[in-house]
Amino acid sequence: MKIFGLDLQQYETENKPNLRVRDELETVTVPTKGGYGSSLSPSVEIGDRVEAGEIIARNDDSISTPALASLAGEIIEIVELDGYHEETGDKFDAKVQGIKIKVSPEQSIKGSGIEWEKEKPKNLRELLYLAGLTSFGQTGVPTEFNSSLFSPAKVEHLLVNGVRTEPFVHHLVDFSEEFASYKTGLEILARTFPKSQIHFVMDEKTQENLKELSSSQRIKVHSAKNESYMSKSKMLARKILGREKLDEGGYLLDHGLLALPEIFPLATYRAVVEGVPYIRRRISLSGPATEDSIIETPIGAPVKYAIGEDVKDNVDALTIKGSPLSGQKLEDSEMPVSKDMGSLVQLTKPQGSQFLAWLQPGLRKNSYTNAFFSALAPHKKKVADSGLHGEERPCVYCGWCSDVCPVDILPFQILKTHEHEMIDEVNRLQPQRCVDCGLCSYVCPSKLPLSDTVKSAKQEQSDESHNYVKYEENEKGLISVITEEEKGRGEESE
Ligand code: SF4
Ligand code: SF4
Repeated sequence: MKIFGLDLQQYETENKPNLRVRDELETVTVPTKGGYGSSLSPSVEIGDRVEAGEIIARNDDSISTPALASLAGEIIEIVELDGYHEETGDKFDAKVQGIKIKVSPEQSIKGSGIEWEKEKPKNLRELLYLAGLTSFGQTGVPTEFNSSLFSPAKVEHLLVNGVRTEPFVHHLVDFSEEFASYKTGLEILARTFPKSQIHFVMDEKTQENLKELSSSQRIKVHSAKNESYMSKSKMLARKILGREKLDEGGYLLDHGLLALPEIFPLATYRAVVEGVPYIRRRISLSGPATEDSIIETPIGAPVKYAIGEDVKDNVDALTIKGSPLSGQKLEDSEMPVSKDMGSLVQLTKPQGSQFLAWLQPGLRKNSYTNAFFSALAPHKKKVADSGLHGEERPCVYCGWCSDVCPVDILPFQILKTHEHEMIDEVNRLQPQRCVDCGLCSYVCPSKLPLSDTVKSAKQEQSDESHNYVKYEENEKGLISVITEEEKGRGEESE
């Protein structure tokens, strides 16, 4: 299915982004939580001098990953930042702390790598923890530290999700230039989790260049279709490993699967071979309102700075964190770049109102819908913008939302039963199978908030069944709530 009229593979080829490094900053504000784990209390004080890569917040007693200074300088303030759920992207009510550093003109990183081929897996895992890399994944990367709900022995399959099938979102790795480092990164991961099979999943066409990787017994290369939902790890796992029961919800590591983002092997290479911890973030910046590029910037830089001046002339733009189908509107451009911020998509805001807008949600509009006049020109490229193009209307029973749903649930039925608070009915419709692809909302000609409603229903259900990580605020900040039942998972040892 074409989304916004784009051929996703063609878009990647025609709009190949350049890497731009943005690191001339006066201050950075490093969040003490990025990705999975509890928010931490700073281990530095105002006035302290820190080096780039130095640990500035750590707590081995809570499930967390240390926070690192991204640039050298002086600690000048501890601030409160908005916190976001690593899976849903929803904003928390509770705040997380940010450590503000006045950047010094002298910057250096004393990186020195190790001979990883001779290192014990346990030591490699320690290195990942100290390099700030273990907050990736749905429930963190397991180590001997408190970085995950699970123990390292639980990792049977390590799945690196290199599928870029979301509209406008680019690969963060240049596989022609960085292939050797990336390959070594995958090999290090194979040694770090010695009992696991490594699966690297790429877009169907890109995979052609990567056959060399398949020569290793421990690394299998797979390809996935250019369907937007394939960027969701649960869908990949089902396709690659045939784990149909993943539909039932729960953690991926309940099924022995650790899914990590595309950038992880490269970051592993840098941490282990070059001795450079994870203190810089790459972000895909793209969309109709900007020049496509990959931005590399220190963690803690304001998002506004990362975006730069790239909004096209005279364009009023709306920035989306993540994918335009399932991401969230960027509410505060002063917020710092966090470890888990992988893409920003800039859409133009439509100007003025339109005559009979509801009648024409097709041509040039942010809907692929075949309703109305758009059906007359199915191959015409449409321009994505941030407008809804038509108000919410009653369902017309077209059935498209269930047709496009990759996990075969009935979004409209969930919307209806959820509206009427029919809890048993909602649960019977299995909202927990939803992978948050956003396609149902995208195709709905009545503009109904389907994916948001399914997400709410899923969260309400998971509150009862503990399927998702929950957080509570106490005097130490935001902490993950671990039940006795969940604690049992981490007790197995390798
Ligand atoms: S319910 Fe909607 S958001 Fe969820 S998987 Fe189906 S189509 Fe995607
Ligand atoms: S796509 Fe929208 S209008 Fe069509 S059945 Fe689903 S909810 Fe109803």
